[in-house]
Amino acid sequence: MQYLKLAEAFERLEKTSSYLEKNSVLADILKEAQSKEVEQVVLLSLGRPWPPYISKETGVGMQQIKKAVSVASGYSISEIEKMMRDVGDLGEVARKLLSKKRQVSLLKEQLTVKEVFETVRQLAEISGSGSVDRKIESISKLLTSAEPVEAKFVVRTVLGDLRVGVADGRLRDAIASAFKVSSETVEHAYMLTTDYSQVAKAAAEGGEKSLGKLGVSVGHPVNPMLAQRTESVEEILKRMKGKCAFEIKLDGIRIQVHKDDDEIFLFTRRMEDYTKMFPDILDSLRKSIRLKRAIVDGELVAIDKSTGKPMPFQEVLKRRRKYEVKEAAKQIPVEIHLFDILLSEDGMLMNESYTKRRKILEKIAKPGERVKVVEQKVLDNAAEINAFASRAIKIGHEGLVAKDPDSTYRAGRREFVWLKLKPTLETLDLVVVGALYGKGKRTGSFGSYLLAAFDQDSEKYKTITKCGSGYTDEDLEDLTKIFRKIQVKKPHPDVEIELKCDAYFEPKVVFEINYEEIQKSPAEKHTSGYGLRFPRFVRIREDKKPEEVNTIDEVIEFYRKQEERKAKSRGDV
Ligand code: AMP
Repeated sequence: MQYLKLAEAFERLEKTSSYLEKNSVLADILKEAQSKEVEQVVLLSLGRPWPPYISKETGVGMQQIKKAVSVASGYSISEIEKMMRDVGDLGEVARKLLSKKRQVSLLKEQLTVKEVFETVRQLAEISGSGSVDRKIESISKLLTSAEPVEAKFVVRTVLGDLRVGVADGRLRDAIASAFKVSSETVEHAYMLTTDYSQVAKAAAEGGEKSLGKLGVSVGHPVNPMLAQRTESVEEILKRMKGKCAFEIKLDGIRIQVHKDDDEIFLFTRRMEDYTKMFPDILDSLRKSIRLKRAIVDGELVAIDKSTGKPMPFQEVLKRRRKYEVKEAAKQIPVEIHLFDILLSEDGMLMNESYTKRRKILEKIAKPGERVKVVEQKVLDNAAEINAFASRAIKIGHEGLVAKDPDSTYRAGRREFVWLKLKPTLETLDLVVVGALYGKGKRTGSFGSYLLAAFDQDSEKYKTITKCGSGYTDEDLEDLTKIFRKIQVKKPHPDVEIELKCDAYFEPKVVFEINYEEIQKSPAEKHTSGYGLRFPRFVRIREDKKPEEVNTIDEVIEFYRKQEERKAKSRGDV
């Protein structure tokens, strides 16, 4: 397939905000691709030539791409930079400059999807001396053959910022329409493989039947099963029909461990490869898991060396920010607490009951200094459950997770078969969309952030609160650095904002926010129609994608429950 076709489709995707039109543009391009090209078209549409769990990058910076654009267009770096200041997007600059190119190449070849895909992928492999120049050369070669619109998207792809609005949900529906399969089957296949390129290829080759054959495999992260919220022990017992397994809920990072002989991989809840981040537990896992091949699920926690108690979740992440990995392993040791098994040498276990999986896990995981199996009890009376929860909290854990003994492992699903019981008020996970500068000793850093929840109806992020407390000075400095990188000139098109900010951001980073109360129609103008009283920053949720923030419907539900509680305590009901 010519890359021009794909670039023109990207252009249409960028211009329209209509769901139906986006769906038909994407579906058409998928149908048009030959079966061996489908994978490449899918990954390029998502903006990276690798599936999400492969943590590679092109390693090309803005300066290098500017050079490549300069070589291909004949314009100088300073001319490019001047235009950048007006236009704000190097892709668009490349498109403009190539359409009034000063040197016309006579032997121009048409770019193919394959060529662009392979060249961009290859950039990650170029290393050693002279690698900067070789990367520039590779990109300028592509750009020299490119039509203006192709250049725009080559530049954005290399920068890792495609901005055509193809999110996972869109792709799922487009694959379903293109190959006449159900969205549910596509979604399920994705939950098992975490790779839409494989899913689309299977759908193209053999429809539902081929999709049904896709399974989990070692080395490919599975979307983890999630837990629903509950109000009380009574609700749990009612939903679980009396008897239920209770596990301690640890506050750490969800980690899926893949074992392939002596090799161990660690994946986060966002399916990122964290193997290199925690070298200190790999050996313990190798020894503890008594299977050649397995996928097990668990929570990684940091341990306070002086007390032996679990440390708050942020400490695990600080490990990454503060120290070199080796030093960190000494300063803040971690343990992994396993609670499930998805695959063993005998095959997939996800369709087995929780009880059976737990039995297998206990048999194959030998607890050691750094590897434990989460404590569990099967209970059926409220007093015992409350006592277990209080003990868990006293040790420093978050609470309990109740699990239906008969339930299967539902990849990527949040259903009422895993229920979390936390005593504290639910915090909200919100995406950061803007900021205001700090005052006094906070001058120079952003001092307050504007946060938004997701509105499923309009598919936009709508603001709900500003939050200027809960940060340490160090947090504010670190955050300012993080947000400078994703700053945009005006509110991002996926965000609805009415308040004026000093800076706007791409909706990428998720904050966990504590608050005293949800308010309806607050004095401050928020597009969600709701606001928070006394919001406080708790932490960055590096493990959550922006699509996973709380929805407006959830906020409304929390508001309803809060009002119910208030009425109860006033004695109104
Ligand atoms: P939340 O992040 O509040 O939605 O709670 C779900 C998370 O709790 C999971 O993704 C896990 O990271 C974590 N968790 C801690 N302990 C357990 C457990 N025993 N079973 C399942 N999830 C757990």
